[in-house]
Amino acid sequence: MSKSEIPSYVDTRKVFLQEGNLVGTIVFSRMKRFQECLLENQGNVQVELEFSANKSKQRIIIGKLKASAPVACQRCLEAVQIDLEESFILALVRQESDIDKLEEPLDPWICEDHKLDVAALIEEQLLLCLPIVSTHDDKGCLTNLGYDEQKNATIDGASQDSSKNPFAILKTLKD
Ligand SMILES: [Zn+2]
Repeated sequence: MSKSEIPSYVDTRKVFLQEGNLVGTIVFSRMKRFQECLLENQGNVQVELEFSANKSKQRIIIGKLKASAPVACQRCLEAVQIDLEESFILALVRQESDIDKLEEPLDPWICEDHKLDVAALIEEQLLLCLPIVSTHDDKGCLTNLGYDEQKNATIDGASQDSSKNPFAILKTLKD
């Protein structure tokens, strides 16, 4: 796939007429809502978009995205890299009232003028394919973390019970 950055906007009047396609990347920092779900700002998403019109002259966007994103493991809160890969088909509509006119099974994407914001479209797809819960594959990641803390505590010479075990810390917080 191309490594070039996808432009901010494509002109919908041209791109569907020419049945164009768009291949490139979008850096995470261009997608603020998605970025908020990540532990780090580094990285990008690889994107492929094809623009066409179907028999009923509906404007169709066929797309693919691929990214590797750093999120927090919901067990140990450390970073875990998750792979996101998604294909989607969208129908471009002018306004919400046009959605009813769509043929199944097309998901609508509303674009009120001629400027299609590609990063916003991709951001929405990324948010949709982001797992609700992400954890390390290793089910023992929390235990491992506890083990490390215990080891560090011994090295530091700090031997307070609460520093040995994350559950003990949680209990302290609860109390
Ligand atoms: Zn973990």
